[in-house]
Parts: sequence; structure tokens; C-alpha cells
Amino acid sequence: MAETWCRVCGRDLKVMAVCVSCGKAILFGCPNCSTFSDTQVHVGCLYQLSVQE
Ligand SMILES: [Zn+2]
Ligand SMILES: [Zn+2]
Repeated sequence: MAETWCRVCGRDLKVMAVCVSCGKAILFGCPNCSTFSDTQVHVGCLYQLSVQE
């Protein structure tokens, strides 16, 4: 499962970006110290995006 707390200060992370294809969160950020999690790329969704005009 994705981390939902900040590795630096321990606060809950907020969703900063969602997958435009499936709507799930792909990037979390800490509103307290501006630390961002690694982007969680959806391989299947990216493929769908790549074939769109
Ligand atoms: Zn933090
Ligand atoms: Zn997705």
C-alpha cells in the first residue's frame, strides 16, 4: 500500500495528484514540510494515455 504519512515529520500526507485515467492517487505531499512521496506510476494507465491523441 502507498505511504500516507510523511517520512520526515510524520504528518498525514495529502493527495497532490491523481491518475487521469483511473482517478487513483499517484502523488502524495506533506502540507507541513513540503516533502513529496515518489510518484506511483500506473503502467497500464500510462499506456492508455500514450495512445490518445
Ligand atoms: Zn512532513
Ligand atoms: Zn491509473
